[in-house]
This record gives sequence, structure tokens and C-alpha cells, in this order.
Amino acid sequence: MSTIERFLRQRNWNILSELIFHSEDLIAVFDMNYRLLLANPAYCQAYYCDPNTENHWQDIMRLNYEQKRGPVVETDDIEAWLMEALARRAVLKYRSFEAELHGGKWIWITETVSPEGVTLFYATDISTVRTSSRKLRLERDAARRASWTDPLTGVPNRRYIMDRLEEWHEKQSCQAEFGEHVLAVVDLDKFKRINDLYGHDVGDEVLCSFSQNVVKHIRPFDLFGRIGGEEFLFFMPNCSPAIARHRLSMFQSMALNPKQGSKNLSIVYTFSGGVVSICKDEDIHYSIREADRLLYRAKAEGRVRILC
Ligand code: GH3
Ligand code: MG
Ligand code: MG
Repeated sequence: MSTIERFLRQRNWNILSELIFHSEDLIAVFDMNYRLLLANPAYCQAYYCDPNTENHWQDIMRLNYEQKRGPVVETDDIEAWLMEALARRAVLKYRSFEAELHGGKWIWITETVSPEGVTLFYATDISTVRTSSRKLRLERDAARRASWTDPLTGVPNRRYIMDRLEEWHEKQSCQAEFGEHVLAVVDLDKFKRINDLYGHDVGDEVLCSFSQNVVKHIRPFDLFGRIGGEEFLFFMPNCSPAIARHRLSMFQSMALNPKQGSKNLSIVYTFSGGVVSICKDEDIHYSIREADRLLYRAKAEGRVRILC
């Protein structure tokens, strides 16, 4: 038995709660829907949230952004920033990065995600540490994020998705139990017609609208991104093809109301998809090819459908 285990068994867990409460480090726990479950006073003070009311991470960040307090978020479009941040979180069980708080304080944040999707947020003050190379590190982090993100929709790009999927598949294949995991390739139907009828800008809006709708509904470990022009990949771990198909169907037949002068235009768009179970013994590219094959069958059978 390790020293820490012995300590926790012999003593009372209350000691840990008390230490967390009094710690000057920022400590918070979020559930799988990013709802704040608990936060110590240091966190509440830095992020301006009331632990007695229901808070979602997105609401905390949005309110702080509007009031120019709490964490510094450099963006002109907070909704796009939130979507990007949520979409990138997927599949990562641990990440760490530095962040600035209004007032000049710098913190080092680590986020650890449990298999159930519960996130432990832990941050410590690093205002006086390694300040000389901070600008360089921040520029490097921003460049890395940009290389992972599709600039139009803000969701992960093909490169990020393939890296995460290959990493995940390698780790998962070493487990005794592989489990059931699903991969879907979806493609918007007759998208060229939308461009031809309403213009390329409206086509772009449709791509963004579709991405935002999906990101709003993904689970913490789902991974969704744009892998081509109007083609997207959706990875759903611990999910059956039937459930994945049902989840995808909920996004079907969406509408966009673009602001085009005084015309009250509404564009309904649909997609087709192929859904496959990921094989333990075949590489991830094989599963993508299989999903592609089903996608083309769905197109041939008349579109607006998801085949598994
Ligand atoms: P299908 O139902 O068979 O998929 O038909 P489709 O028209 O969607 O497919 P097709 O491959 O014929 O055309 C895809 C179109 O998507 C052509 C291309 O100009 C457009 N496209 C690709 N990337 C973008 C983009 O970033 N923005 C816009 N607006 N259009 C794009
Ligand atoms: Mg298409
Ligand atoms: Mg296509």
C-alpha cells in the first residue's frame, strides 16, 4: 500500500475536502455536460461564479467575457470560441495549458477527464514563473491550435481527427476488452445546388450551422470534425451503430435562415451517412473506408439516409 493510500485510509477524507476548500489553487469539478458540480472559493473568486447556483462552463465563460473579468479570452466571437473549445476537448483525457486572468495573473491549468466524462479542473498561480518565454509559448500554443482547426467552421480538421483517432485506436487495442465504438462519415446532400442557388457564402453558412448543431450535442468523448469540403467525421466511443444512427438522425433536415436583405429565406439541408463499428484488428483507415462505402450506397439509394 502506498503512503498516500495509507494516509487516505487512516485519516478521514474530510481532511482532503478541507484542504481543497482552503487551497489557494483553483479547484473545480464539472459533470459530463460541463455543469459545475463543485468549486472551491479560489475558483469561484477567479471565475466569478456562485457555487450555490447552477452554472455551466459555457455560461461562466460567456458572462466573464461580456463583463471583461475572469479569464482573458481573445476573440471577437465568443460563441465561435466556445464551440471551438468544446469541439477540441473531445477524446483528451488530460490536457494542460497556461491562461491569463484579467488583472495580470497567470495560471497553469490542468484538466483531467474520468471515463464517465467528469472533469477535474486544477489551476495554480504561475504569474512569477518563466515570464520571459511566456510570449513564445503562447504563440506556439496558438499556432498548434490553428493547425488542428478548420478555419471556416471552427471544428477539428482532418489532421487533428486522424491524429486523435490513431492515438486512441492504438491505446484501445492494448486493452483486454476492446468494447463497441462507432465511426460515421457524413456528407451534405446536393450541396453544390445550395451554392449554385444561394451563393457560396450561404453554402459556408450551412457548413457552419451544421457543425454548430452537432457540437452542441456531442458527448465529452465524441470527436467530430470536417474532413473535406462538405464531409464530416463523427467518432462515438462506447456506442452501438444503432444508437449512433439514431443520434445522427436527430440532426437530419435542419434549416438555415440566412440574412439576405429583406428576403425571409429558409434553406432546408440534409445529409447522408455511413456508420460502422470500429474493428480492433484493422487500422482506423479501414473503418473510414468502410463508412465511406456505406455513405456512397446511401447516396445511390436516394440520399437523406444513414446506413449501418
Ligand atoms: P451529393 O449529394 O452527391 O454529395 O452532392 P453534392 O452536390 O453535395 O456533392 P458534390 O461533390 O457534387 O459537390 C460538393 C460541393 O461542395 C462542390 C464544392 O464547391 C462545395 N464545397 C466544398 N467546400 C466548400 C466550402 O468550403 N464552402 C462552400 N460554400 N462550398 C464548398
Ligand atoms: Mg455532398
Ligand atoms: Mg462530398
